[in-house]
Amino acid sequence: MLTVANAVEKLIAKARPLANDRRRAGLESVPVTEALGRVLAADLISTIDVPPAANSAMDGYAYCGADAEANNFVLPLGQRIPAGTAPASLMVSTAARIFTGGEIPAGADRVAIQENCKEVDGSVTLDKKAVAGANIRAQGQDIQAGEVILKAGTKLRAQELGLLSSVGVPSVNVFKPLKVAIFSTGDELVEPGTPLQPGQIYNSNRATLIGLIESLGMIPVDLGVVPDRQEATQHVLKKATLRGDVIISAGGVSVGEEDYVKKAIDQLGTMEFWKVAIKPGKPLAFGYVDKTPFIGLPGNPASVFTTFMILARPFLLACQCSPVTMPQRLKTVAQFSKAGEEREVYLRGRLVDEGVEIYHNQSSGVLSSACWGDVFVVQKSGESIEQGDMVDVLPYAL
Ligand code: AMP
Ligand code: MG
Repeated sequence: MLTVANAVEKLIAKARPLANDRRRAGLESVPVTEALGRVLAADLISTIDVPPAANSAMDGYAYCGADAEANNFVLPLGQRIPAGTAPASLMVSTAARIFTGGEIPAGADRVAIQENCKEVDGSVTLDKKAVAGANIRAQGQDIQAGEVILKAGTKLRAQELGLLSSVGVPSVNVFKPLKVAIFSTGDELVEPGTPLQPGQIYNSNRATLIGLIESLGMIPVDLGVVPDRQEATQHVLKKATLRGDVIISAGGVSVGEEDYVKKAIDQLGTMEFWKVAIKPGKPLAFGYVDKTPFIGLPGNPASVFTTFMILARPFLLACQCSPVTMPQRLKTVAQFSKAGEEREVYLRGRLVDEGVEIYHNQSSGVLSSACWGDVFVVQKSGESIEQGDMVDVLPYAL
């Protein structure tokens, strides 16, 4: 059985970037305001300085220090400069009334804040303590023309959208979102909205997978529920190759008589590996149907959440040319004890002031465990955890 680290490594090595796929030239241009979560396809170079000109950080008075000193710190006001206006050069032996964001007139070398000055009859008594450069935001202090402001591969967050706008960029080239074809398997599954008959349960994996895929900025292509039958499983897999860049299924991937996914892959495609030493979620298949990569997740809802986050996520990111960053591992204090297990365990937990707690029921069928908190606690294979031990936690952040 593969270790989790080996499985992740293999998956990333197999990931074929979308950008290399001729069938779908992997780039598109989108307006910056619609680019949240998208990944930049090329370095972005600013053509301007930000700010484009020196401006005032405060409401106050702009003037030349030497001039002020020569005039005993009292100068007549020569102009008024609100933000958004183009100032004239400062006339000799005058000061300018200026407001936050107003451009510094040529000839001024400092701004004294209004609270430290006194304006009477068109003249101002200035602040003797204002030094050269005081309260002036220099031209280009944030960004300089010619500078790479964001590198190719950057995932755009709200602050990056703002940065792009600050250099006047209206739209950006980003990688096309990956299309992930998904289906759930199981004769027991019905969709919410239909009353349950004896023997049935509601399909939760469909919604979990749609949410996880959308959180990665990708497009889920929902192929619904597939009954536990060989022909139906083969049929949906073939359909999935036409609809998705990658296929992800949930359930039916074990070796029970009613598990048809593994059998279908064995018949239709190639299986690269099957079974990873992870808990929850041991039966996990990776292979190809035609040339389309396929990941078969187990059926239990907490296993779907866990194996998607730990194994499917890095693979999908690599396929989309997104940076494959794992959520940053933090170290904190275990507020629980737990015996070691053969597999690496991903306990669903939550951060508290004193460290990390885990949900009381870690069964792979208990999806509440994943909703209760915000982190996995990683328990290495064969290692027990005692209360007070330092443990690794992985935030659920996508
Ligand atoms: P399987 O991997 O198909 O043997 O499924 C393992 C367990 O997960 C069984 O108890 C299934 O009923 C349950 N299960 C499978 N798929 C889903 C689903 N989409 N939603 C909720 N439970 C599921
Ligand atoms: Mg099943």
